[in-house]
Amino acid sequence: MRPINSYVYLFKYAHSLEAFLLKAREEDQKIGFVPTMGALHAGHLSLITEAQKHYDLVVCSIFVNPAQFNDPADLAKYPRTLERDLELLASIHTQAVYFPEVDDVYPQNTTTEKFQFGQLEEILEGAHRPGHFAGVGMVVARLLRIVQPHGLLLGEKDYQQCLIIASLVHQMGLTEQIQLHFCPTAREVSGLAMSSRNERLSEKGKELAAQIYLIIQACRDKYPHFTPVELSDWAMHSLEALPDTRPEYVAFADAGNLLPINGWNESKEVRVLVAVWVEGIRLIDNARLF
Ligand code: AMP
Repeated sequence: MRPINSYVYLFKYAHSLEAFLLKAREEDQKIGFVPTMGALHAGHLSLITEAQKHYDLVVCSIFVNPAQFNDPADLAKYPRTLERDLELLASIHTQAVYFPEVDDVYPQNTTTEKFQFGQLEEILEGAHRPGHFAGVGMVVARLLRIVQPHGLLLGEKDYQQCLIIASLVHQMGLTEQIQLHFCPTAREVSGLAMSSRNERLSEKGKELAAQIYLIIQACRDKYPHFTPVELSDWAMHSLEALPDTRPEYVAFADAGNLLPINGWNESKEVRVLVAVWVEGIRLIDNARLF
């Protein structure tokens, strides 16, 4: 543990973070937790700022979790900007940062808890990234055991992940102890959802990627006039028509379980969810339709 200024305590090891948080809990401090994979941007910082409104002590973790990458090349290329991340976190007075190595999260000779999420882990992102949500469940369970937060803040940018983690918290029997906060997606002025992966796009790529949100917004205007299948076809074709762009899916789904809908009256709340490759980089976005 070492403070880099009067505000931030840095932890590389779970045991020292646990000791620090034990003391905070004894002083009756309420702990808010924001797990991240670093390469921080204003979207991540908005979660921390929201956490600071509700909790006395906010912990941010920075850990690129190998278990949730099904593609080793994607893991290798994931941006890592630790020094800058720590500066950003200090600038908004984040109290504690945990930035472990792999061994500290997954110690050798210990078994890691595994969870199953049924259909939710097999559709949409789960279908295109096999094993991804099992890996997310594994790391978040471990982090929750270490931090034991009162509140967990997650971004709706990864909407399916929000539902997976809600299920995880339920399966761990922590629903009473941990308040979940699903926070709105922070966007660039262009509408592009902020993402660590955007750093790998060219300026032209960012312009192309901004079309994703324009198409999402067009779906909001058009939906009463089309069936979900027709609208999805339209959106897929619109994305396919862009250079260097390859859509994987545009799905309309029930907001509660993400199962696809065939008619608008099948569900009270519907979300549109999109995955698109732009310049070889996989981007996701989603929004509430109604
Ligand atoms: P990541 O570092 O991508 O694993 O994201 C860490 C947390 O930040 C997750 O809860 C994400 O959903 C959230 N997040 C990522 N991008 C955004 C964004 N543009 N707006 C709000 N939250 C975000």
